[in-house]
Amino acid sequence: MSCMGRTVFIGLDGVPHGLLKRLADDGTMPHCRRLFEIGNLHCIASTIPDISSVAWSSIITGKNPAEHGIFGFVDIPINTYRISFPNYLSLKSKPFWEKSEGRSVILNVPSTFPVREMNGVHISGFVSLDLERSVYPPGLLSQVKALDYKVDVDAEKAHVSMDMFLSDLDKTLTARGKVCDHLWQHEKWDTFMIVFTGTDRLMHFLWDAYEDEEHWYYKAFRGHFSKVDAIVGSIIDRLNDNDILVMCSDHGMEHLDKNVYVNAILKEHGFLHYDPALKGGFANIDGRTKAFSLDPARIYLNKRGKFPRGCVAPNDEEKIIEDICELFQRYAVGGKAVCKAIYRKKEIFHGPFIDLAPDIVLIGNEGINLHSGLTAENTSEETIFSGKHTQHDAFLYVRGRDKCPSVKEGFNVSNIIGYIDSLKAERWR
Ligand SMILES: [Zn+2]
Repeated sequence: MSCMGRTVFIGLDGVPHGLLKRLADDGTMPHCRRLFEIGNLHCIASTIPDISSVAWSSIITGKNPAEHGIFGFVDIPINTYRISFPNYLSLKSKPFWEKSEGRSVILNVPSTFPVREMNGVHISGFVSLDLERSVYPPGLLSQVKALDYKVDVDAEKAHVSMDMFLSDLDKTLTARGKVCDHLWQHEKWDTFMIVFTGTDRLMHFLWDAYEDEEHWYYKAFRGHFSKVDAIVGSIIDRLNDNDILVMCSDHGMEHLDKNVYVNAILKEHGFLHYDPALKGGFANIDGRTKAFSLDPARIYLNKRGKFPRGCVAPNDEEKIIEDICELFQRYAVGGKAVCKAIYRKKEIFHGPFIDLAPDIVLIGNEGINLHSGLTAENTSEETIFSGKHTQHDAFLYVRGRDKCPSVKEGFNVSNIIGYIDSLKAERWR
């Protein structure tokens, strides 16, 4: 162990600052409460868009999406209308563990599949297609399997039975805790990072159980957070005083009232011409299409020279962007505006891959979940989910009140790694 201390980095996927504080205060998460008494808990912003693949890519690289090249769970390669699924191979900046000299244990960071050679241990998070390519070094695979490890809960189960889903969520967390314990004890490391991702799944399905004491799953909701807290507690009990401890979430979460489908709105207003009922995504887009959307609410102009049937000439881009922004500024469902904020590419993205960035990104209003809705016929509908992501209300926690640089206005998840580096530099002085 180095005398300057190790770094422990705990991620709680999707956990809002407000919820974490409340569950610490009401006794659901006593270990977190203990931590908050001896450190600083900050409310920070997510990336834009506020989804895990983008946010965790920014967290581990410290970069803007136009620098690391991940803009969503799906993408459309230039010159096609084919939907692609970016993964770790698509990440164009190095994660912090490939830049540091020390040995790292990296457990369950989303969008880091398939794993590759690194100095330490890496078990990728969702989306991981198979466990064989999720574990580095490969020699560790049999031990990970022996502990019944599973990368992600089977969310499909929630559509069949919530009890089945909760049981699977619990098993997945138990195994994650065991693998965490195993790696902590048997590996040498300078940096240890673990992300808990079941929290996000649970909040998507059961946000209403968090808010309603009469809800059938009220106790189950809190039970999952208590179990996460117990694993956090087992980690902090083993920390030394000079170890750096940082915790964060990648985005916030709030209640969800309605799904609203961006492509259906673009279609309704003549910007998009395609038949969502036909298979193959945008394969049948016709040459009159001015814009289309990819999840969550990224809008791309159908530019001439960029896409096969692109019709938007450079001189027309600005006017079309203005028209689309205006449409979504006034667009309402049930008397409620669907957007909280609308961003143009240059306001939010900077870096060498800006040409791959969406031209506009919409942020949904409170309770409104904006989806591209590739196959949606209607502009909005009710959903079985009760929680949705927010761009605001993510959190950052740092143990130790002294010598911690302040978190400035506008701090977002891509600033976390730089912040940890400044903490380390402070220790060196
Ligand atoms: Zn989520």
